[in-house]
Amino acid sequence: MDTYETLLAAIAPADGPTREVHDPATGELIASVPVHDRSHLDKAIARARAAQPGWAALADEERCGILQRVADAIESSAEALARVLSREQGKPLNGPNARFEVGACAAWLRATAATPRPSEVVVDDGETYAELHYRPVGIVAAITPWNWPMMIAIWQIAPALRMGNTVVAKPSEYTTLSGLALAAVMNEVLPEGVLNVVAGAGDIGAAIVADPAFGKIMFTGSTATGSRIIESSAGNITRLTLELGGNDAGIVLPDVDPAAIAQDLFWGAFINTGQTCAALKRLYVHEDVYDDVVDALAGVAAAMPMGVGLDEENVLGPLQNRMQFQVVDRLVEAAKASGARVVIGGEPDRDAPGFFYPTTLVADIAPDNPLVVEEQFGPALPIVRYRDLEEVIEWANALDVGLGASVWSADRERAVEIASRLQAGTVWINSHGGVHPFIPFGGVKRSGYGLEFGVEGLKAASVPQVING
Ligand code: ADP
Repeated sequence: MDTYETLLAAIAPADGPTREVHDPATGELIASVPVHDRSHLDKAIARARAAQPGWAALADEERCGILQRVADAIESSAEALARVLSREQGKPLNGPNARFEVGACAAWLRATAATPRPSEVVVDDGETYAELHYRPVGIVAAITPWNWPMMIAIWQIAPALRMGNTVVAKPSEYTTLSGLALAAVMNEVLPEGVLNVVAGAGDIGAAIVADPAFGKIMFTGSTATGSRIIESSAGNITRLTLELGGNDAGIVLPDVDPAAIAQDLFWGAFINTGQTCAALKRLYVHEDVYDDVVDALAGVAAAMPMGVGLDEENVLGPLQNRMQFQVVDRLVEAAKASGARVVIGGEPDRDAPGFFYPTTLVADIAPDNPLVVEEQFGPALPIVRYRDLEEVIEWANALDVGLGASVWSADRERAVEIASRLQAGTVWINSHGGVHPFIPFGGVKRSGYGLEFGVEGLKAASVPQVING
């Protein structure tokens, strides 16, 4: 049972170079984190390698029992973890934010332990008998971004551990504290060497990716980095799961009740203040309901408090870093310059110490506007008016990414038919972005490849082996 203070003390750097961590809401210095180099990575690999045979030799039920106890540890330190996450990432404690994320970590571990272990008889016809099994890869690298730093780490670590692998995790340099804090709590339970963390930026990530010690790299981050990972892991033929950028479309049909869907549309777009891979990032609304949907969304948006994460009333926070603030600011300014209509927001205080960008809805915007076709990854939603369904499907499919999409309609069958024509790894009907530990998740096109979660996720964290005979 850690407190915020004991948790920070437990992960305080002992020696070596460090980097300061500032609260993105206030600019306040909250801690320092280590900056690791090649020698730390080598030690982490050595620990992971030494621990792996013993970990893999445990019965599956034993590993599952340990994952359940790791979930218990996370729950008993949940408030401390949520405070670290809130202060470093910026996300509020409340709403679908820091406490929610920590709760999801525990829930995901439990669900991963409860997922049926894959193995099947593939042929049994009296003459031939063959079984397909899934064996450990060895050491898995878990390279994570800064938007959901604890939950995404668990998405990678939990299936890897369940399948008998050990892990070297590298949190984003923007959210190292969160990665270290989560691992410290998990390591209260896990055997020595099973989960190791190296702290650093892209250079240490690149060193991991090029190292033949890793049988599998699980990566969530930008498409550009994903490309680099493919290149530098090619020599080792390392297995990859790549969950990359997205620019998810939502299509609203004319038969919806705008007031009834406004809340779900809002959270589909603005969860984690818009900093979510599979958030709704461009909304296409049929002209018959356009004004009503925009009004209803504006009503919801105006009522959602944004502010410092530790204040209990807030449900939206700052952008995590200045770079992302500048992306959102540039895209909204471009939209304004094009003559699009800012319905709410759009006027940030650029001199404030925190990276707050106000909740922003931009209407009457052209389908090829940069705010529509580039990933904003922040609290600014473009709302495009459409008349023709064929044309809007073309717009939705026009981009080179395809993580998620959504169709909003009172007619499920019609929505499913439209969904089948959308180029996206997941299409939600009347919601956007919800994930579930038993439902596979992954992108198409330049949003990456490989599936996470559920049985498919366990398969992806292992190597197949056929027993023939
Ligand atoms: P984002 O901005 O979405 O976090 P990045 O792709 O920049 O996306 O970063 C995601 C993760 O990838 C971070 O942990 C980062 O340090 C790491 N990273 C950056 N460059 C590389 C690289 N060349 N090889 C491996 N990991 C990298």
